[in-house]
Amino acid sequence: MGVWHWFLTVTGTNNESGYWYGWWSGFASDLPEFAILALVWRKVNCHAKGCFRIGLHHVEGTPYVTCRKHHPVHPGSAPATAEEIAAAHRRHLAVADQAPDGAGEP
Ligand SMILES: [Zn+2]
Repeated sequence: MGVWHWFLTVTGTNNESGYWYGWWSGFASDLPEFAILALVWRKVNCHAKGCFRIGLHHVEGTPYVTCRKHHPVHPGSAPATAEEIAAAHRRHLAVADQAPDGAGEP
């Protein structure tokens, strides 16, 4: 809403005591921006320690989400070829086939 807000302010149509002003000074001021950013960042960044890339790839069988550099299957900065994706899928199916029934029991 940046440009629109600027336009309204410049043209004098913006009512600073209006709805948005109340929203920002009421709700948003109780939640500092850095806290929101920190929460969002923890949600989206790579789980590898010290890595600040955006994590988009779920590591199968783990709670971790990593960037493509730290994902164990992803080939890194190069985009995966269709063959690599198919091979990774076959490896996953092979591992799933080998898992004994009742996996996870002591
Ligand atoms: Zn990473």
